[in-house]
Amino acid sequence: MPTGTLFTVSAPSGAGKTSLVKALVDSDSQVTVSVSHTTRPMRPGEQDGVNYHFVDRARFEQMLDEDAFLEHARVFDNYYGTSRHWVRETLAAGRDVILEIDWQGAAQVRRLLPDTVSIFILPPSQEALRERLTGRGQDERSVIERRMEQAIDEMSHYVEADYLVINDDFDTALVELCAVVTAQRQSLERQQQRHRDLLQALLRHP
Ligand code: 5GP
Repeated sequence: MPTGTLFTVSAPSGAGKTSLVKALVDSDSQVTVSVSHTTRPMRPGEQDGVNYHFVDRARFEQMLDEDAFLEHARVFDNYYGTSRHWVRETLAAGRDVILEIDWQGAAQVRRLLPDTVSIFILPPSQEALRERLTGRGQDERSVIERRMEQAIDEMSHYVEADYLVINDDFDTALVELCAVVTAQRQSLERQQQRHRDLLQALLRHP
C-alpha cells in the first residue's frame, strides 16, 4: 500500500484556514487533519481532543523530552506541537495528512520530510484580514493590532510554500485547495505505487 502524502497548510490568523481545511476533510475521505497539542487556553466553543489536545506547560515539556513531536513552535506566547507517532501511523496506513501549522513548523517538517507538500493560504487584502480578525469579537483592539502585525509577519513567509491559495471567495478557494491535494494524489510516483499490477498488465504484449 502506498504511504499517504503529508501536507502543511499555513496562513495568518483570519485567512480562513481552519474552515477551508475542515471543508476539505469533510469532502475527501482519504484526507485527515492532525490534532496538535497546545499550551494555549481553550477558546469558547473549542473541545479538547477535537480542535487541539490542550495540555499544560509541564506536560508539553515532558512530551518534548520524550521526542514526541515531529515539529513544535512558539506562536503568540503559546506552544504548539504535532504528534510524531500519529503522523507516522496515519501516513503508513495510506491516508493523506494535513498539518495546520505556522511557517516555523512547516519549515521544520520540510527539512525532516522533503516530500512534504506545503500550501499557503492568504486573504484577498489587508482590509479583509482586519475585518475577519475584528469580526471574531473575542479580542480587544490592542490584541487585534498585535495579531495584524503577527499576521503580516506570517504572510511574509508565503514564498516558502509550494502552492498558494487566495481565499477571496470561499468556494473557489476550496476547489483550489482540493485541486492541490488531488493533483498530488495523481502524480506518477503515487499512481505507480497504487496501480503497479494494472500498469504492468497494460504493457504486456498479447
Ligand atoms: P490558534 O491558537 O489561533 O488556533 O493558532 C495559532 C497559530 O498556531 C496558527 O498559525 C496555527 O496554524 C498554529 N499552529 C497550530 N497548531 C500548530 C502546531 O502543531 N505546530 C505549529 N508549528 N503551529 C501550529
